[in-house]
Amino acid sequence: MYLPRDAKRIISLLTQSQYKAYAVGGCVRDAIMGRKVSDYDITTSALPNQVEKVLLDNDIKFVETGLKHGTITAIINHQPYEITTFRTDGKYSDNRHPESVSFVNDINEDLSRRDFTINAIAYNDEEGFIDLFGGVEDIKKRIIKTVGKSDLRFQEDALRIMRALRFSSQLSFGIEEETRLAIFKNKELLNNIAAERIYSELVKLLIGDNAGSVIKEYSEIISVIIPEYKECDYNAIAVAPKKDYIRLAILLLKTDNADGILKRLRVSNDTFDKVTKLIEYSRSDASVKELLNKLGVDLLFDLIELKKAINSSFETEKIREEATRIIESKEPYRISDLKINGNDLMALGFEGKEISSVLEKLLFEVWNNPEKNKKEILLNIASRFISRKI
Ligand code: ATP
Ligand code: MG
Repeated sequence: MYLPRDAKRIISLLTQSQYKAYAVGGCVRDAIMGRKVSDYDITTSALPNQVEKVLLDNDIKFVETGLKHGTITAIINHQPYEITTFRTDGKYSDNRHPESVSFVNDINEDLSRRDFTINAIAYNDEEGFIDLFGGVEDIKKRIIKTVGKSDLRFQEDALRIMRALRFSSQLSFGIEEETRLAIFKNKELLNNIAAERIYSELVKLLIGDNAGSVIKEYSEIISVIIPEYKECDYNAIAVAPKKDYIRLAILLLKTDNADGILKRLRVSNDTFDKVTKLIEYSRSDASVKELLNKLGVDLLFDLIELKKAINSSFETEKIREEATRIIESKEPYRISDLKINGNDLMALGFEGKEISSVLEKLLFEVWNNPEKNKKEILLNIASRFISRKI
């Protein structure tokens, strides 16, 4: 298996100090599959302070990122390497957090605590793959299967239910039968898991290659994390661009109370704004200029993609052309495009809230008649509002 030079270096420095050390988890899985590896995690028999000593002795920078769980992040050439001591998780009493973690000396025990066989493979150049649970075979068979009894593993940590779905979507793997049954059986335990953790897996699920099928087959699970959920257009999710907010909007399109759901999931303000606007304007028959005004250029193009995905009769190509024409010909569609501003209106005698409402009226005027976007003409129209006022 290919390991980058700096990952090899960390492993061999630890090994030279008589510790065991391996690449483990996602990087091994992705390398076997020929997928792009995002980051390299290293697991070792060295205790955190022993890892630190090895790094210090070799002038390698590090930060203590999760000392309680035995994790130290080394940084070489700006690239982080998470180094975690072999550990087992103690008893789980609340379906989410082990009461304690204990460091152990045996890679086998560390691999046994991991969630799925495909994530429980360790590797180093000297020993090759350590694959106690048939993970390499399961990668070949393209299946997700828990390490050990599925029922127990989901009861220990119910987030694993979402993780199974997320890997199934990301990797286009099926879920093995015992694992699948245990997912349905234990789904309610997801109620014990913090919203942020669920959301972070949900986002990865949504932007995965196989999101449409997973959402369809596991809609019962979606209904646990989103009780208001109404079946969505799976096919639209599958063909929409892989942007979380577009797919989230499709997921929630037929569901009431999207605002409340998004708040509960603790999405960022930016995501909240985008998703709620996409949902609102997917139902509106506003003019292209109004859409440009309310959404801005980028989100209008996202809306077009969303509409295309849900295959609505919305004439996506025509709207795209019209929007492009408006932008290229610099036709006014925002208040800031008007050749008149608040100061000009104040000079005419408008004050306070009147100013923005007059600017808005002028904007409506130039939406339909862009040739009227000239200062004199606008001043003229505005002064007519004054006379009406009087
Ligand atoms: P990605 O490429 O998306 O980061 P990953 O497999 O690295 O995928 P992480 O969430 O980064 O996933 O977790 C790293 C490893 O830690 C996993 O491969 C798995 O072995 C283990 N792991 C993570 N979360 C859990 C969990 N809830 N229960 C058991 N093992 C877990
Ligand atoms: Mg990872």
